[in-house]
Amino acid sequence: MAVRSEDLGKTGTLAYPSRIKLPYVWYAGKAGSRFYQELRDHCRIYGTRCPDCSWVYVPPRETCPRCYRLLDEWVEVGNTGTLLTFTVTRYAVAGIQPRQVPFAIGIVRLDGASSGLVHLCGGADVSELRVGMRMQAVFRQKREGNYLDIEHFAPLRT
Ligand SMILES: [Zn+2]
Repeated sequence: MAVRSEDLGKTGTLAYPSRIKLPYVWYAGKAGSRFYQELRDHCRIYGTRCPDCSWVYVPPRETCPRCYRLLDEWVEVGNTGTLLTFTVTRYAVAGIQPRQVPFAIGIVRLDGASSGLVHLCGGADVSELRVGMRMQAVFRQKREGNYLDIEHFAPLRT
């Protein structure tokens, strides 16, 4: 059997094209469903608040991992927040990365939230990113009810 390979250059590694067909359905649950529907339909970001410890989880959770309480209080948080940390990927791996390198993935604590949201950072060169900087969610024009309805978080320009 002939196999076509792709030489990835300097590293000397090879990549072999292949295909795995694995259809599946992922159940978003009650919290995830409302979270994604609000993103898709209204460009709004919601979390859930714990009645015991008052933490606001974004993305929303159905139970508090700190208190084990069921969470049913919904809270709209801001679409702006603070970049808590980030990492820059500068090494290209064929076929599995969400952006051309270099790109950054960060954790943003949205205004009104207690937890951080992991997402792509965009709208700026990665060299401009700083821990503590203000970020804003950038929504896709065509939203489909999933995590990538937020295209990325970009530095807030004032
Ligand atoms: Zn709690």
